Amino acid sequence: MSDEVEQLNSRGELRHLITLGGLERAHLEEIIELATRYLTPVGASAPRDDILAGRTVANLFFEPSTRTRASFELAAKRLRADVLNLDVNMSSRAKGESIMDTIFTLQAMQVDIFVVRDASTGVPARIARQVAPHVCVLNAGESDVSHPTQGLLDLMTIQRHKGDVREVCVAIVGDIKHSRVARSAHQALAKFGVGELRLVGPAELLPEDGEFDGAKRSTELAEGIRGADVVMALRVQRERFAELGDIPDPQEYSRRYGLTEERLGLAKRDAIVMHPGPMNRGIEIVGAVADGPRSVIQEQVTHGVAIRMAVLALIHRHIDQEAHG
Ligand code: ASP
Repeated sequence: MSDEVEQLNSRGELRHLITLGGLERAHLEEIIELATRYLTPVGASAPRDDILAGRTVANLFFEPSTRTRASFELAAKRLRADVLNLDVNMSSRAKGESIMDTIFTLQAMQVDIFVVRDASTGVPARIARQVAPHVCVLNAGESDVSHPTQGLLDLMTIQRHKGDVREVCVAIVGDIKHSRVARSAHQALAKFGVGELRLVGPAELLPEDGEFDGAKRSTELAEGIRGADVVMALRVQRERFAELGDIPDPQEYSRRYGLTEERLGLAKRDAIVMHPGPMNRGIEIVGAVADGPRSVIQEQVTHGVAIRMAVLALIHRHIDQEAHG
């Protein structure tokens, strides 16, 4: 669990986004509804809004990222914010400066929003508790605990294809134990009363008992995806294994859990296939499925920018009110 932090301001508006766990369903609905308005037809120019003009967003990624960082950067720029990307290798953290010193320095440079990714638990919440009253913190991936904008974009993608999730069976396949994506997806789906959630993977990659309340577990791929409406494949998170020797052998993993066209035939005929990226083609998913007609993987990416624009636009209310009283 993320350390507790109040994510709403005194008016009940979103200020920080650290975990979906602490939010009401109405907050998620508001974000997804606004994100939907930030979608434009394929080939049309990207959506724009000048709501963050004059504001500054700092992307602080203390763990490698390509898509999430690019997604937050584009989202902020499409809202006309000034964007600062801190190079991890050059970061003062590497020089031994504490994260909070870096944050306070950037805050003194009038950064209004911090987008933070970190490999250790509790960092986004710790920052959120200490920043100035008008400043907002967005969690862009916290250890194996939380990745709230990913959970939102996954929920949005499922709703757009399948409608009311109370009728939907979602199978998450792979390294669920180390996955912040799966944890945030579970929080989002549970709030909307998902019909059925199945966790599928080798026993050693399934989460501890007591986690993922209400989900069914299976170590057999066929059993786990039979009749599912949504199949979400996950990467084996090699970087989060305490012991290198515990990382599953890729060939063996792919033989038992790799998503192939044939295996996908067990899911519903109109099932969609999701993956948060980065994909290991040929391991957890074959190219023909990743690029096939049921794949919504590229849509997830598009929805990701729209969700991040929506979150940034909504927290802007807080910054503005704090600034103008
Ligand atoms: N991009 C996702 C994350 O940040 C999934 C992954 O890395 O496998 O957690």
